[in-house]
This record gives sequence, C-alpha cells and structure tokens, in this order.
Amino acid sequence: MKLANRVQALTPSSTLAITAKAKALKADGHDVIGLGAGEPDFNTPEYILDAASYAMKQGLTKYTPSGGIPDLKQAIIEKFSKDQGLNYKDTQIVVTTGAKHALYTLFQVILNPEDEVIVPTPYWVSYPEQVKLAEGKPVFAEAKEENGFKITPEQLEAAISSKTKAVIINSPSNPTGMMYSQEELQKLGEVCLKHDLLIVSDEIYEKLIYSEEEHVSIASLSDELYKHTIVINGVSKSHSMTGWRIGYAAGDPEIIKAMTSMASHSTSNPTSIAQYAALAAYTTDEHEVNKMKQAFGERLEKLYDWIVEIPGVACVKPKGAFYLFPNVKKASEQSGFDTVDAWVEALLEEEKVAVVPGSGFGSPENIRLSYATSLDQLEEAAKRIKRFVEKHT
Ligand code: PLP
Repeated sequence: MKLANRVQALTPSSTLAITAKAKALKADGHDVIGLGAGEPDFNTPEYILDAASYAMKQGLTKYTPSGGIPDLKQAIIEKFSKDQGLNYKDTQIVVTTGAKHALYTLFQVILNPEDEVIVPTPYWVSYPEQVKLAEGKPVFAEAKEENGFKITPEQLEAAISSKTKAVIINSPSNPTGMMYSQEELQKLGEVCLKHDLLIVSDEIYEKLIYSEEEHVSIASLSDELYKHTIVINGVSKSHSMTGWRIGYAAGDPEIIKAMTSMASHSTSNPTSIAQYAALAAYTTDEHEVNKMKQAFGERLEKLYDWIVEIPGVACVKPKGAFYLFPNVKKASEQSGFDTVDAWVEALLEEEKVAVVPGSGFGSPENIRLSYATSLDQLEEAAKRIKRFVEKHT
C-alpha cells in the first residue's frame, strides 16, 4: 500500500468538489450560478494591497519569525483587547498560514492517538478530518435544527468521555450562521471547566453578524475560561483576504509555543508580505469591513425571503457568516429523490445552480447556499431553485 492509513481515512472536501464540478460546467459554456463559495466575493481593500506592495518594495520578502512578525502579533494583541477585552502577551499568539492551519497545528500538538474532540454537527468540513489527521477521534454532538443549530449543555455533557480532550465551538457558524449568546456560552463553558476540557473557539466569522447581538468570545467570560480556551481567528473572511493565508491562534503559552515550533518545521513562517498586509488590515479602521458586512446583510434578508417561499424548503434564519443552511428534505422527497445529495446533483445538471450538499457538514437533510455573490445572481439562483422544485413536484 502506497499511502499511509491516516490519509486513506480522509474524506474529500465536499465544498471543493461541487466548486470543481461547477467550474467544469462553466468552462463548457454553461451559465452556472455558483453558491458554493466559502469566500467573500469582494476584492481585498486597496489599502491592504498597497501595504503588501510597499512591503515587497522594501525588501520584506525574506523568512520571518515562525510565529509571525512582532508588529503583527502586537496588532492582534491590541485587536483582542479592543474587541473583547482579552489580554494576551506575545508568547500567547502564533500567526499561521490561515486559520485552517492554526487549527491543523493545534490538533497536532494537543492530541494523542484516540483522544476525543467533540465536534457539534453541522460542522465545518475540515474539523473532523483535521482531528483524524492528528490521530484523534471526532465525537459528534447534533445541534438540532429546532434548537437553532445550537448544542445544549446536556448534549455536551452526554458526549464527554474519559478520553475527551477538547470541544470545538464555532460561533458564528459555518455552515449554519448560528450564533451562541453570552449566556449559552457561559453554560457550555461551565461543562467544559467541570471536565477540564480545552475549548477551541473558532471565531473567524466574528465580524460578519447581522443581528443586534454582539459577538462574544467564550474566552472573555471568566479567568478560567480564558485559560481553557484557544481562540482561532484570521483575516480571510473579515477583510476578504482568503488567498493571503493569514490566521492566528491565541491562548495557553505552552500550546502556542508547541504550535510555533511545529510551524518552524513545516511552513517556516506565514508569507512575509501577507503578514504586512494583515498588519495594515488590523491597524486601519473597519470602514471597508463594515461596507462588506452591510452588503452581506442586505443579501441575507433578500435571499432568505426568496428561499423560504419555495415549497418544501424550511430555513433557520442565520445571524452571521455568509451562508443559508435550508432543510430541503421535504422538497427532495416530494420530487422523488432518494437523497438530498442526488437532488443537489440534479439541480446542478438541470438548472445549473451549484449548492453544497449538507452531508459534507454532517447534516444530510440540508444544503448550504453561500451569499458571497451578487444580488442579481442570488435572485436568479432562487428563481431557478424554485422552478426546479416546482418542475419535480
Ligand atoms: N474556520 C471556518 C469555520 C471556516 O469556514 C474557514 C474557512 O472556510 C476557516 C476556519 C479557515 O479560514 P482560513 O482561510 O483563514 O484558513
């Protein structure tokens, strides 16, 4: 056997698979609307491009410290202090090649074989795979649709075993857009503290919230929770910088040191000029961030209304991120499809609308629609989905 066991156990990313299929159809001349994207459709703001270009011209194109340049670490520390009242030292921050690699490295440094990590479903596709790559075991706790896609403290308690090492909390969530309130986080946190678990708080969508509620980091709720939490964040979603690959982790200095050490032997450092770009992102006001957020908010309102009027489609209204996660079980059953996956495939073939089946997120009755595309495209996509459902009913 050529490949190691750990690679054979990997599940390919469903998000990337549908995007590839949609691209192939587009290349063949079809008018495809892609709602699969996991990235903002806006250009990276001009001042960030200028900072990268300036860094390049200044010769800042060499290796940097593995855990990130000091100025960027400082800017991240100030951001935590300003946004959440969280105080970190530079030994508690590691800058990584995207939030994804922060999570990957984190699981590598905290998990021993068979250690369990509680992953609430629906989950972001990479969590279980990253846990498996670290030879850990993902244990799923189903966040039910009727509970707004949130897990309860009782469900968390029930999923814990003597092997549980960590719990992932992703608020606002990909794929559901769900957000926990401060009170809910406090209660989940109490369960984690009772069992001395590490909390992995993925806050990558923190700036994309469309309700009155404010983002709360579980790390900010008490000294004990601060000590037990590793916060994961980055500039990909907030500043439309997915390709620049800058994320970071903050928390326990021993864990951060181990992550930095791992980075020194794997990536060496995040791209130097991308770090200067991220520095500009964090040291400039949030005018551009808010403009993008406003556009997302308007799209959410419209797309939500268009989607819920489709027969057989139900949807919990999201509060953040840029996805809708409607339940289409009824619509697909009415249309004679055995699975939502088959329904999604037929939708792409017949109406040329690419959406991501919920099965990849551990939620086979749902689909994920990204509204990181123009309102015109969203309106046309909703029309086509409606036509598809009506044709098959
Ligand atoms: N966490 C969640 C929930 C995400 O949706 C994503 C990107 O899709 C990431 C982390 C990774 O972001 P990055 O581009 O910083 O690696």
